[in-house]
Amino acid sequence: MKLYNTMSRRIEDFVPIVPGHVSMYCCGPTVYNYAHIGNLRTYIFEDILKRTLRRAGYSVKHVMNITDVGHLTGDGDDGEDKMEKSARESGKTVWDIAEFYTKAFFRDEEELDIIRPDIVCRATDHINDMIALIKRLEEGGHTYTAGGNVYFSIDSIDDYGKLARLNIDELKSGARIEVDSNKKNPKDFVLWFTNSKFAGQAMTWDSPWGRGYPGWHIECSAMSMKYLGEHFDIHCGGIDAIPVHHTNEIAQSEAATGKTWVNYWCHGEFLLMGNAKMSKSSGGFVTLQTLLDKGYNALDYRYFCLTGHYRSQLRFSYEALDAAKSAREGLVERVCQLKAEAAPSSAPSEKAAEYMKAFDDAMENDLSAPQALSMLWKLVKDGEVSSADKLAAIYHMDEILGLDLAKAEAPKKEAVGTEDDLKLLEERTAAKKAKDFKRADEIRDELKRRGFNVKDTPSGPILERIE
Ligand code: AMP
Ligand code: ZN
Repeated sequence: MKLYNTMSRRIEDFVPIVPGHVSMYCCGPTVYNYAHIGNLRTYIFEDILKRTLRRAGYSVKHVMNITDVGHLTGDGDDGEDKMEKSARESGKTVWDIAEFYTKAFFRDEEELDIIRPDIVCRATDHINDMIALIKRLEEGGHTYTAGGNVYFSIDSIDDYGKLARLNIDELKSGARIEVDSNKKNPKDFVLWFTNSKFAGQAMTWDSPWGRGYPGWHIECSAMSMKYLGEHFDIHCGGIDAIPVHHTNEIAQSEAATGKTWVNYWCHGEFLLMGNAKMSKSSGGFVTLQTLLDKGYNALDYRYFCLTGHYRSQLRFSYEALDAAKSAREGLVERVCQLKAEAAPSSAPSEKAAEYMKAFDDAMENDLSAPQALSMLWKLVKDGEVSSADKLAAIYHMDEILGLDLAKAEAPKKEAVGTEDDLKLLEERTAAKKAKDFKRADEIRDELKRRGFNVKDTPSGPILERIE
């Protein structure tokens, strides 16, 4: 298995810490609003990564957090808590908001056939773990208190910003306007807030530094280490997390333990809307429900995501989604035809096995999904592979693609035509069976005069109205 590691900026051979096992942490949603389809692209990428690791023979322990406190609207510890803002605007409590959007998130994940992480952990359930980690950092001399807040001092370590390759000297001398005058270094960040600026905060806890609440970054360090240990294999997220969130996660985790925290950093590129990143703040964001309301299947969107490499930007448009929809529906139809013809073979032929291997090789080469998809289509169209072998190979591929092909059913078409038209259609089927092609053609022409085409489907011929 080969994976691109943001830390080294190279594609590397994947070698787990414990042979045969993978420990993987993914930053989860901030549950103050619906996830948009850009966020969901990142979760689909992580799901594909997990499925591919399993294919490569590893057992995967997948942990994801739910951010329900501490994520501010500004990346520089400025603005207000996103949860509080959402609660205020909707007139609900922060707890209700968290519950509502967490449920909505998992509904989306289910629709998209995303396998639920083994452990889903809420930030508000782990405040004590965060306090313990902040204490550890305090004991190590990595923190200071100012204006009531506890800050992480980036000057207490010598490799701050290594993931993003930040030039710290440049940052210091740059004319950056600092909003928080308590900070000794503009890049220092809050571990624990008690600042009176946040007096209206509904979610607060007692701590050695006073009643308050945690900063956003500390939750991921505390929870990942709790469930995966102080050194684990893979940490994922969207690329926007590199310069601040993941940079700060690394700083505080490695300052606490004194050793390397994560071996592979994997980041998914953005989904674009027009020329800009899709984002909640820009207002023009699309949710999965919007797509469902327009008549798309959630898996049309999953298919659309598979058409781009996870490290490339992908531009969303309804035209592109329509293309994905018709490709996926075409695939479902072919699978249904195959199912009508044969059961999946238990020992696929050499040719089918070659397709499976080519597919796996593409996926295990830094998740080259577009290449893997083209392998699937090549197989579907290959006249030399039997239906039974094709089905077996398609199911094998779908364990990674997650398009639910084994359960696929031909879309039910509403009955078209009057009783008399349908009787004629039946007559045509009987004529064809009796090899009376002349009569069958006559009936087809008559049906055409009546405004119908005859279409053969896996469940038999049907009438289609000529547009
Ligand atoms: P959030 O709920 O805002 O914390 O974001 C959840 C995940 O979605 C994070 O991993 C982000 O990096 C990722 N993300 C945010 N915007 C986009 C986008 N336009 N395309 C892909 N991923 C995104
Ligand atoms: Zn995180």
